[in-house]
Amino acid sequence: MTSRLRLAIQKKGRLAEESFAALKNCGLRFSVRGDGLLARVNNMPIDLLLVRDDDIAGFVSEGVSDLGIVGENVLLEEQYVQGSKLDAQIDRRLGFSRCRLCLAAPENGNIQTLQDLNGTRIATSYPGVLGNFLTKNEIDAIPVTMKGAVELAPRIDIAASICDLVSSGATLEANGLKAFQTILESEAVLIKSDRPMGRDKQAVYDRLVRRLDAVIRSKDSKYVMLNAPRSKIDDITRLLPGSDAPTIIPLPGDDNLVAIQAVCTETVFWETLEALKDNGARSILVVPIEKMMS
Ligand code: ATP
Ligand code: ZN
Repeated sequence: MTSRLRLAIQKKGRLAEESFAALKNCGLRFSVRGDGLLARVNNMPIDLLLVRDDDIAGFVSEGVSDLGIVGENVLLEEQYVQGSKLDAQIDRRLGFSRCRLCLAAPENGNIQTLQDLNGTRIATSYPGVLGNFLTKNEIDAIPVTMKGAVELAPRIDIAASICDLVSSGATLEANGLKAFQTILESEAVLIKSDRPMGRDKQAVYDRLVRRLDAVIRSKDSKYVMLNAPRSKIDDITRLLPGSDAPTIIPLPGDDNLVAIQAVCTETVFWETLEALKDNGARSILVVPIEKMMS
């Protein structure tokens, strides 16, 4: 049995690009050729299995792949459909490929709220997730499973409403539909099974996830540098988003002024900069962080 760690990712699609980018940011070097199902990582003992996203959870469960990157929406659906047979769990959330699974109906039609769904059909590619949501909310409606073109269903009376993925809402709008309820907020997740993976693979896994965590953490992180009156250190520290102990450096030639430098792990908005300025900060610099490991 190979000691190379296998990671299944989507070959082509909305999840693929961001998965490739995350792995490249982790320093993995690989090239994807034509129709190949397997991409070898040159600088780490990892092989990428390039497949359809629907197959990823099953591959992990059956031991074909040690790990997988998949949308939480797809994983949950597989979990609902296969139940305890599926051995594929969320290892960590990856923070990209965010989208929402929503209920939507024709604008200005009969269906505006959850209660209006009673006794109607709902077209969806997610009968498991939807069925669970309906049961929990005591709604008596019938999911109709469609693998694609779900947004066309209301127009041809297949169903009165739909339950589908939404990111910008443009597809819904183009089909005269309007989302009225979110049933799941999804993002890409790293999945693995509960089986132990053996010492060699475990060591590769540990290295990979440490890098993944560093990439995820540094994504929104910025290094903030500014000068400020000594009397304002506390106020300014409180304003810096997601930073714990900033570095305070005295400025030669001016006892009242210090330089403050901090890693901010949350988004630094323009509003934050304006508030810093209102509190006496000057010469504010916000720079991106490429890598971060604690
Ligand atoms: P496949 O051919 O692999 O079966 P697919 O057609 O099922 O692909 P895609 O449309 O490529 O799937 O979407 C894959 C996943 O990407 C979705 O299940 C969802 O988790 C995520 N996703 C959906 N919309 C977006 C978006 N706008 N941006 C990024 N990720 C998204
Ligand atoms: Zn798919």
